[in-house]
Amino acid sequence: MKHDNTLTTPALTDITDESFIKAYQQFIKQGDFIALTRQFEQGFVQTGTRNKLSFSVKNAKASLLDSGVLLIEPENSTKASKSIVISSGIHGNETAPIEIVQQLISDIIAQKIQVKHATLFIMGNPVAMNISKRFQTENLNRLFSGKHQEIAPCFEKYRAEKLETYVSAFFNAGADKGTSATTSNIEVTNYHYDLHTAIRDSKYEKFAIYPYQGDKPWDKEQLTFMAACGVNTILFGHGPSGTFSYFSSAHFSAHAFTVELGKVRPFGENNMDNFQAMTDNLNALICGNEITLKSFNNEDFNLFKVLGDITKVSDNFKLFIGDEISNFTDYPVDTLLSTDTGAEYRTTQPGESIVFPNAKVGNGQRAVLMVVPTTLY
Ligand SMILES: [Zn+2]
Repeated sequence: MKHDNTLTTPALTDITDESFIKAYQQFIKQGDFIALTRQFEQGFVQTGTRNKLSFSVKNAKASLLDSGVLLIEPENSTKASKSIVISSGIHGNETAPIEIVQQLISDIIAQKIQVKHATLFIMGNPVAMNISKRFQTENLNRLFSGKHQEIAPCFEKYRAEKLETYVSAFFNAGADKGTSATTSNIEVTNYHYDLHTAIRDSKYEKFAIYPYQGDKPWDKEQLTFMAACGVNTILFGHGPSGTFSYFSSAHFSAHAFTVELGKVRPFGENNMDNFQAMTDNLNALICGNEITLKSFNNEDFNLFKVLGDITKVSDNFKLFIGDEISNFTDYPVDTLLSTDTGAEYRTTQPGESIVFPNAKVGNGQRAVLMVVPTTLY
């Protein structure tokens, strides 16, 4: 594995710097969170207190915790029964999700909407955003649940650790409410929607990965919420992973999804109408507005479970899936998909489909995820 050792601690901006104060005040006025995040990509000298960079919005308090990390807490939190994380830009060039978060934040700052549940907004990788790349050194969405400890210093290592800290503190604060003797002992439910766009075309434009749940059942109401957001293709996770959504799901029992909203495009080139259902429903969720959901029906979904991986074993690995082939493309039984030293992969199941093919991975790594249609009972 290649490591970039040039960066150990990022060059943090002091929040007393004149340029920062000016940009921060402009943000409070205009709500352009992308601009603020991109200007101070490495983050700020932390003070350990969220009150340093706090301001009032409609019946709520907004606190800038770090570059790209904004916490909104309703003033009257006794009835707030949800803790909601909405993250974007974990891959820096996935702009549509960043623009969704921007829209929600600017509506909050313009006092157009009133947040009723604690919400943590995240633009995940500001450094990668600025270079229009998926990541600078390491894929951030493989570094959560402590996996960042296993890699050499780089911005993503630093950022994964920080994001874990913020999300942990956020969910723990909600959990404390449920056990505190001074509040109404409200049971708080956790949510985390980690928004992405995919690199390649997909047979189903929008899809979500539901993190592995172990012994817990898949939550059908969450699936219908996804469908209401325009996402009715669901891939059920098959094991623990280093993704951000798995982190919140496994460690904080959050209802969590990695949501893929279509294909990567540059800033400003996304047709935001295409994401309106997603934005509207997230808006309704954080504002405590009623969301009408259909009851769960298998026919409304394309559900997939993981069959296994095609792993690249040696340098002789050959993958017979072209770059233009869409995610969720299915192949007839007995189709040869890859060859390798002493091995080949042929499909064995009806409807067997490919997701995330990548022949350029290292030896021993997954080159393709193989999935098959499934139903939920
Ligand atoms: Zn992504």
